[in-house]
This record gives sequence, structure tokens and C-alpha cells, in this order.
Amino acid sequence: MELTTLRNGRKVEIMENISGSNDFIREIVSEDLKTGHVKQVVTRFPPEPNGYLHIGHAKSIFINFGIAQEFAGKTNLRFDDTNPLKEDNEYVNAIQEDVAWLGFHWDGLYFASDYFEEMFQRAVLLIKKGKAYVDDQTAEELRLTRGTLTEQGQDSLYRTRTIDENLDLFDHMRQGEFGDGERVLRAKIDMTSPNLNLRDPVLYRISHAPHHNTGDKWCIYPMYAFAHPLEDAIEGVTHSLCTLEFKDQRPLYDWVIRECEMPHVPHQYEFGRLNLSNTVMSKRNLKKLVDEGLVDGWDDPRMPTLSGLRRRGFTPESIRSFVEELGVTVTGGEVDYKLLEYHARQDLNLRAPRTMAVIRPLKVVITNYPENQVEMLDMEVNPEDASMGTKQVQFSREIYIEQEDFMEVPPPKYHRLYPGNEVRLKNAYFIKCNEVVKDNQGNVVELRCTYDSETKSGSGFTGRKVKGTIHWVDCKTAIPAEFRLYEPLLAGEFDENKPLEQLINPDSLKVEYGYIGADLKNVKIQEKYQFIRHGFFNVDPKETTTDHKVFNLIVSLKSSFKIEQPSAKR
Ligand code: ATP
Ligand code: MG
Repeated sequence: MELTTLRNGRKVEIMENISGSNDFIREIVSEDLKTGHVKQVVTRFPPEPNGYLHIGHAKSIFINFGIAQEFAGKTNLRFDDTNPLKEDNEYVNAIQEDVAWLGFHWDGLYFASDYFEEMFQRAVLLIKKGKAYVDDQTAEELRLTRGTLTEQGQDSLYRTRTIDENLDLFDHMRQGEFGDGERVLRAKIDMTSPNLNLRDPVLYRISHAPHHNTGDKWCIYPMYAFAHPLEDAIEGVTHSLCTLEFKDQRPLYDWVIRECEMPHVPHQYEFGRLNLSNTVMSKRNLKKLVDEGLVDGWDDPRMPTLSGLRRRGFTPESIRSFVEELGVTVTGGEVDYKLLEYHARQDLNLRAPRTMAVIRPLKVVITNYPENQVEMLDMEVNPEDASMGTKQVQFSREIYIEQEDFMEVPPPKYHRLYPGNEVRLKNAYFIKCNEVVKDNQGNVVELRCTYDSETKSGSGFTGRKVKGTIHWVDCKTAIPAEFRLYEPLLAGEFDENKPLEQLINPDSLKVEYGYIGADLKNVKIQEKYQFIRHGFFNVDPKETTTDHKVFNLIVSLKSSFKIEQPSAKR
């Protein structure tokens, strides 16, 4: 049964089975197990190590590992490393770190390149069966003779080469006797097929490039469409789950398995790709951002990479609930970034301790507060979770408040501090602004206020009410800190035709300086806090030192975004 649901104002098709408890892939898996077609589910997550993983990969990870977990199966982490020019060990390591961070353990760790010899032998088998031939045409000629959706392709002149000649040439290709692009090995299928993937696809190409795993051993490399099904079959994968753009390759996938006479037969199923608004998602473009220095590396907190999201402060749990909310949709569709933020907020709300931090400070002197007096005031660590208890924050005669919480000439309905007005200091007292101190340029540099000792928070004072409550940090114990405030990386939607630097949102990073309280003196990297009235922040793991604390804004407290209820299925 196919359903449609409105998500973020967009129609998204969702596959749901009749019982309503599974998505279509889980339905297939459970059927295969029931009929005994499959004894144990084996899936794989097969990234190419040509970049860091992004949030789109998280969807594939949760589907592959999640399904295997639910059905007592196994999942391999397999590096699909068949393109030596783009691959690197740095990526191999980063990918493992990211998968583990999401909470998954792979059963087998494999490299496609470990199967190069077997793949070569299977290609030889194809040649011997008359199902593959060496073609001398250039890449351009191959493209031109391939035909189009409305035009048939043309047979290559080399299509009728004898088996012996093909075996000999393929061996010479392997021996390194030809230059890059001089020859390819092609499958002999059907140049008139309506499916372009079946028009004698290239199986092997020549590339004299050192490989991160096999070094100089090979100078011919298998193409993805040939290598992937073989990798799945070699590993005993039962359900090969990939994104929708591979749907048209499925007949070729099955052809390779069949004609190469693989003893184990895996099956391919496709699900919709995850695309996020206002960001770049392919590794190729993310790499460009890094290489052009437009971001601070792959783990820049604005990046949609898993390492960027981790550094920003997103938790694996929030990524999981976000991905689960999206479901295994059959069609792709763009998802609003705010949906990810919504899940982060939900998760952090329950676990992040509250504290007060002042991002753009303005000094306040409480003139009637005794000079040497210091008080310790109680503050709930997390009003959402009483078990987290209370902590004490210091209060004394001089404090910092936010510049934004004061206006000399307030607009209507401004309930924060202005001359003559009284507000509550969170967890403390009412204060009233009496005097504004300015520097030579006329900038407000200090406020002089009075407090009312009767109005202490928790004292039950009911004498009068104030409309505004503002937060603060005690000057004596305040610790300077840096705050990095983030907005979406791109100003609008991604556009392949525009240079990346023109697409970057100039406000995507704002750096501010202010103060945190003494309660955060010993913060550790990657700890998450809610700065009340601001949002959730993460202690930056890369640039925080004992003397210089850096906080990354994960998400602000509020969003205009409303999630639809009830939520869609997994
Ligand atoms: P990219 O274009 O970002 O490099 P890719 O598909 O080439 O993506 P791979 O490393 O080949 O990246 O991907 C590993 C697995 O993750 C594949 O099965 C792929 O289908 C899946 N995947 C990649 N991007 C997404 C996405 N946006 N949504 C869901 N799955 C994805
Ligand atoms: Mg790729």
C-alpha cells in the first residue's frame, strides 16, 4: 500500500505494509526468512573511502545495521575502494570512527580491493564464455556509440574479437602494457537494450595509479557496476540495500551475478536518498568546500558530515530519531534541516544541564548590595529531570547581563531592562535600572542598578510582579569564553552551476565573546549544556583548552518549525 504524507509542506510517498508495522524492506526480509529463502540476513554498508560520511550515509547505516539487528543478522562494513585516484586511508579511518559513533559494530570489515584477484578471474570467465570483450575505443567514442534513451547504441568494431584474442589483450592490460584509457573490458550484452546500463557496460578500465591498499599491484580496476555485485556475492550478502539511483542497474547487477556463476546470489533493493535543505550533500562537493578552504575541514560544525555534526554537538540518539522519523521512503525528497534540529532539541532537553552564560556582556553594578558580600543561590540542574538535582551559583555586587537585555529607549512591549524599569534576575532578585554609564563615544558600558532583598527567588515574595526575567553571570567568578553561533551553511538551495563560495551563507558562522559561570570551570570537551534563553551548546573538542573555552551552538531553544503529528513510520 502506498501512502502519501505531507512533510514540511512537501508530499512524500511512504511505503507501508498492510499490518502497518514494517517498511517495505523489512517486509521483504521478514518474508524471506519466513519462507526459508534466506537463513540469516546479511547486509553491508559499502562506502567508498573518498571522503567523510555525511548525514545521508546515516540513513543507509541505520537501515543496513538496523535491519540486521532486528532480524538477528549480520552487517559488514565494506570499503568500496575500486577508484584509486580518490581514495585514502584518512577516509577509511574516519568512516570507521563515524559508524562506531552512531553505535554500530560491524561483523566483518572488508575492502573491495581484497577481492581484486577473484574479480579478475570472474572477468576471465566472462571472456571465456564469450560474454566480455576488450574494446579499443576511446572514452569519447564509447559515449557516442552508446546511443540515447530514444536511440539504439551501435556495436563496437571490436565486439567480434575472438575469445583468445580477448584473453590475451586482457592479460596485457593487467601487465601494464597499455596506457590509461587505451582499452577497456566490456560486457557483451545488448547494444539495443532500452536500459542503457545493459549496452555493453565497461567492466574494467586501465589506471596506472597507486592504490591505498594494493599499492602498485594493479593497473586495471573494476567498475562499480561489476565490482559491487561480486563483492556482495563473495561476502554472502542477502539483501543489498542501496539508493534509488541504482534501480536501473539492478538488471546488470543480476546479470553479473548470474554470468559470473557466483555460488551465492544476493538481491538488490533500493530506497530513497536523504537530501537536506540548505546544504551540500555529496562527498565530492563537501571535499571541494574543504579543499577550497571555505570551511574549517571535514569536521567544521557547519558541515552535514557526521564528524561535523558530532563536533557541533549533535548526539547519535538525535540522528537516530531523525532518521527513523524519515522512514524508509521509496522516493527521495528534500528534508528540512529544521527537522534534524527538532530531534536534537528533544534529545538535549532531557539530558543537558542548564546554566547561565552571557554572550555579549554588559556590566551591572548593584549599588545597594554590600561590597564584600557573596551569596550562593540554588539553581535546578535540569527542570526536566529532578534527579539531576540542584547546583549553586554565585551572586555578588557586580554581574554581567546580555547587551540585548538592555535598551536605553525601549520600543513598546520591551519588558527587559531600561532606565526606571525593574526585572527579575533569574534565580536571584529584582533589580531596577537607575543610571546608565557611557564611554566617550556614547556607548553604554555599565548600568547602575539597585536590588530589593525581599524579592529573592524561592522566598515566596508576592509584593509585586515584573514582566521580564533575564540571566546573568557573577563578575567575580566569571570565566571568559568564546561562543560560535551557526546558521545554515548555504544561503539558499545548492546549485551545481554556481561557484561554492557564492553559495555560502555569510552569516553561517558568527564568533562572539562573553562569560560562563564558575560552575563550568571544569567542563570537558563534547559536554553539552543549555545556556538558558540561548540554546544548547557543545564544548568544542578541537579548540577548547584549559584557558580558552569554546562553545558551539548546537541548536537555539526555539524554532518556528512545527512537526506534524502523528509522525510518519520508519
Ligand atoms: P556521495 O555522492 O555523497 O559520495 P555515494 O552514494 O557515492 O555518496 P558511497 O560512499 O558510495 O557514497 O555510499 C555508501 C552507501 O551510502 C551507499 O549504499 C549509498 O547508497 C548510501 N548513501 C549515500 N548517500 C546517501 C543519502 N544521501 N541518503 C541515503 N543513503 C545514502
Ligand atoms: Mg560516490
